[in-house]
Amino acid sequence: MQVQGLVIAVGSRSCEVFLEGRGAVRCTLRGNLFKGGEAGGAGRKADGRLSGGRRETGRARDARHGGRYGGKHEIAAERPVAVGDRVLVDLHESVSGAPVEGVVDEVLPRRSQLVRTAPDDKSGRVHVLAANIDRLVIVAALANPPLRPGLVDRFLVAAAREGLAPLVVLNKVDLEGTPDDEGRPLTRALVGPYRAAGLDVVEASCLTGEGVPALRLRLSTGVSLVLGHSGVGKSSLINAISPGLDLRIGAVTEYHGRGRHTTSSSRLVRLAGCDGWVVDSPGLREFALDDVEPADLARLFPGFGDLPDGCRFSDCRHRAEPGCAVHAAVERGELARERHETYLRVLLEQDAAQAW
Ligand code: GDP
Ligand code: ZN
Repeated sequence: MQVQGLVIAVGSRSCEVFLEGRGAVRCTLRGNLFKGGEAGGAGRKADGRLSGGRRETGRARDARHGGRYGGKHEIAAERPVAVGDRVLVDLHESVSGAPVEGVVDEVLPRRSQLVRTAPDDKSGRVHVLAANIDRLVIVAALANPPLRPGLVDRFLVAAAREGLAPLVVLNKVDLEGTPDDEGRPLTRALVGPYRAAGLDVVEASCLTGEGVPALRLRLSTGVSLVLGHSGVGKSSLINAISPGLDLRIGAVTEYHGRGRHTTSSSRLVRLAGCDGWVVDSPGLREFALDDVEPADLARLFPGFGDLPDGCRFSDCRHRAEPGCAVHAAVERGELARERHETYLRVLLEQDAAQAW
């Protein structure tokens, strides 16, 4: 019997697939899903499905992203399936009460995917963090650790590039009023620029429960990826909106032979009492900007809107070039100076990455 399911965890040779009405079922991957395209694997079928020999190339990915912000490198995925993939599973019904097992026959086309270049992989293969994500939840904290605008903006740019709806969460607002490192009282007003840029912002505290219902509402459908620096309270927030889940961000159980061991890969978890899923994915600090061209950065930068289109030079980096419309908007007070400074910081990092 062939059924459609959702991949919730991926191991080296097997994965867990959620099947409506059955729950999680352990599945092995059809052998031909491993063979690389260079070995003449089946590749993409005429109808766009991927089967056998899946080996994503930069070109294939560019095509899906309209070719605009795609990578300049040919990229190939490390693994044929990722969490969030919709798959067709050949189900082996058990008669004797043994656990139901399945075989993944086919990976259905992805609506979207988030990739990261494996840092130690010289072949340029990428790690698909998750497929078919609906929204990025970017969590920052008022303190412990303090909000780093550069990091939040890198995530926002990644969301814009992938066409994903971003949500900014400022957690630990219970710390408002307490002194920061320089002795000034902490204030939640620091999310003002994000609101002014038209972004959806939730101010939350796991301690007081503030913002938890608002967050639950936004995460109650689709698949959300929760990102943010370690310690900002990602797992606390997810546990708060879904009591009983007892999430341990940073650890996932992977099938390994007959035993299990802990790895740092991603996992999808279902929120209690709703149809929302959350990707539990550790180690995302350096995620996401590798393949944004510096020239594209400003067009994707939250709050800049159409300003870059008004610059005199089409390759304007919006530092202080003559005729720069972004710079002029800052001077007129129409664009917050902090937004521009954050942009310049991200641009510097981006330039450094490209030079390397
Ligand atoms: P993660 O690494 O982003 O998953 O963060 P955790 O959920 O593990 O939380 C890190 C630390 O912050 C823990 O000690 C939590 O108790 C604490 N924490 C989480 N949320 C809040 C909050 O809203 N207010 C305060 N004051 N502390 C919090
Ligand atoms: Zn400019």
